[in-house]
Amino acid sequence: MRKILTIAVLLLLGQSASGFTFLFEGKNRHLDSSVTFYAGIMQVSPDGRSFNTAFSEAALDWQSQTRISINIINEYLDPCTSTTPVSGFLGGLDGKASIDMTATVCGNDFFGPLAAIALPGGTSPTGPNPGDITDGDIYFNGSLNWDIYDGPRRPDLLDFSRVSLHEIGHILGLSHTIFSQEIMNAEVTDADVLYPDDICGIAILYETPQDCTMLLEGSTSMSGGPTTAIFTGGATADSGASYETMFSSTQSLNVVSTIVVEDAHIGLQGNLYVVVVLADGTLLAKNSDGGFDPITEDINSFPSAESKVLAGANELLILENLVAADLGIANIGLSFYIAYSLVTEPGELYFASTPIRLTITE
Ligand SMILES: [Zn+2]
Repeated sequence: MRKILTIAVLLLLGQSASGFTFLFEGKNRHLDSSVTFYAGIMQVSPDGRSFNTAFSEAALDWQSQTRISINIINEYLDPCTSTTPVSGFLGGLDGKASIDMTATVCGNDFFGPLAAIALPGGTSPTGPNPGDITDGDIYFNGSLNWDIYDGPRRPDLLDFSRVSLHEIGHILGLSHTIFSQEIMNAEVTDADVLYPDDICGIAILYETPQDCTMLLEGSTSMSGGPTTAIFTGGATADSGASYETMFSSTQSLNVVSTIVVEDAHIGLQGNLYVVVVLADGTLLAKNSDGGFDPITEDINSFPSAESKVLAGANELLILENLVAADLGIANIGLSFYIAYSLVTEPGELYFASTPIRLTITE
């Protein structure tokens, strides 16, 4: 059965917070870990540099930091006319990934206007099993002002390279992150390179979690049974560009985690937990209001940070813009343990036995 996968978009402007999510709850991806793009963009930047070359360089960035193989054929293949029409799916499906810089998306406007739109599609089996993405057209909004540059985002001038990184991420099967400045954030930000969490999303989606530098080792369950759940996380003082364990009390920190649940748990009602262990052994758990409550070791008494229908990847923003000195804290050591449960399995907990550790000193 041919099932059409959904679309993904990139918003134009704005600043926001790191993490990854999967585009398709079935964790759909390119089964052979390889994509071939037909890129024949003729436009150039204001100083004459080829957008086609910039796209190839963005593809090479993904390829060099993951196990994805990206081939570029420098040939224009119209994503609108060379496709198999499919009702409700712009451009249809032809099993090819075409790149275009155009005023419309096959006669439709850019919904906003968006800077660009990626349309990964293909066939997939129903249910939370890996299916395949076989088609992945990318449309860049030709009505906007494009250039190629590094560094902070400039008002009204879009950097083709970072938007390419973002759209390729969609075609590979990533969705938007809720965390701030990363390539897979829905908004164009100051991030002009792939961040560790962007890489982790692909590493886990393509079943090479060992390539994720934010992996929290030792996934296990309270009952002691094996689990395929994967936990990532870390603390960052630069909006996700790098993750560290040692910070000064005057730095502004974000602590983030992503929980990739067992495939059989996707779509089930569950709870996400963050348990903090202080150096003196005090236990705290994050509650749904964002505060931290003292707890005992009785897991049935833990407040949950969030109750939700579990997605393939579930992001948790544990601490945002925390400046310890502002709270009168000069020196502290913290360990954050990440877990989830299913409402249908009282007493069972899936967690990473390695915590996110951070030390704050004056
Ligand atoms: Zn997007």
